[in-house]
Amino acid sequence: MTTKDKDRTPVAQILVTQCTRCKLPLTHMVVLHNSEGIVERVQCRTCGSEHKYKPEKKKMVKKAAKKTKARAKSRKPDPAAIFEQLVGKFQDKDPVPYTMQGSYKTDDVIDHKTFGKGFVSEVSYQKMEVTFVDGPRILVCDR
Ligand SMILES: [Zn+2]
Repeated sequence: MTTKDKDRTPVAQILVTQCTRCKLPLTHMVVLHNSEGIVERVQCRTCGSEHKYKPEKKKMVKKAAKKTKARAKSRKPDPAAIFEQLVGKFQDKDPVPYTMQGSYKTDDVIDHKTFGKGFVSEVSYQKMEVTFVDGPRILVCDR
């Protein structure tokens, strides 16, 4: 095994890996890195369970990604373009300062002190997905 197989997706970003509970390859949020900066724990965005990241499953995802590489390109516009679209769509909305205690709903515009302006795209129990200029992040809310 080379370091190429090690996933270094940043914490709070999304990766696709096998969920131990759902038994399916699903999107997971990175919760923890080990001391080498490699993903150690992830949380399933479907069932919410947190489990150890199993890098051997990544291969399967990689293979699938390779096959659909051409399609993936057109299917996945870059985050900045998505962000620009949202800026246009919600230009009349004033951003609400983000706090962990805050309560938000889909299509709210928030102002995060680290990540800047963000657009709430999905809200679930005590967390939400927010689209920032560099892509979506999971933030806590309603705490
Ligand atoms: Zn799951």
